[in-house]
Amino acid sequence: ANFEDAGLHPAMLNNVKLAGYETPTPIQRYCLPAIKMCYDVVAVAQTGSGKTAAYLIPILNALMGKAKKLAAPRPNPAAFREGIDQAVRAEPLVVIVCPSRELAVQVFSEARKFCYRTMLRPCVIYGGGPVMEQRAQLQKGCDVLIASPGRLIDFMNNPHVLSLRRVRYMVVDEADEMLHDDWKQDWDTIMSGGEIEEGNVRYMLFSATFPKNCRDLAKNHLAETHVRLR
Ligand code: AMP
Repeated sequence: ANFEDAGLHPAMLNNVKLAGYETPTPIQRYCLPAIKMCYDVVAVAQTGSGKTAAYLIPILNALMGKAKKLAAPRPNPAAFREGIDQAVRAEPLVVIVCPSRELAVQVFSEARKFCYRTMLRPCVIYGGGPVMEQRAQLQKGCDVLIASPGRLIDFMNNPHVLSLRRVRYMVVDEADEMLHDDWKQDWDTIMSGGEIEEGNVRYMLFSATFPKNCRDLAKNHLAETHVRLR
């Protein structure tokens, strides 16, 4: 199996090639069709296995085919050229929750590669980073949001900046690193406070191990557990 046979959008196939990826890793071979078929996915995957691309490629690929239908608010280009501040509220289609700033930045850099020359705009927010700058980025428009949980909740509390009402894919990466006691509460806040429409959302959970907190999350939110790779 290779990327050419995966039925990818031409822009995505091109970006995969630009990234220098020739053959899918094992986890990518599992996740591509599973996510395409709208399964929720739990994958037990180590860093270095290609797990980031395993969810980014099929999710972003699915959105590329529907770019027009899903088009999120955009700043008025004429006003933008004239330097008039035309902030929009970010209404991402994908939210990728990462436990650390390092992971968030890493995932963002992968997402940028796959969003190149598409309608999709990635954005990254994390605790400890510059609030005003992150806010300005969000208000230019964002389709793919990579976020640490605390900062995500901070921005969700400002309805002029961020709304989760359009989210179609919710990813938790390195779920086993979400160890702090508040994580369960953070997750509940994200799910209940963010205008998420549960029925429209596919869940993906990636984790190097599969401890109880991950099993609970999977049990409570994932409809069809499809992929388990070790
Ligand atoms: P990850 O497991 O997501 O942290 O990825 C580990 C590294 O493998 C990253 O630097 C990716 O850019 C790279 N990578 C992911 N998938 C592929 C692939 N199919 N071919 C070559 N490199 C890849």
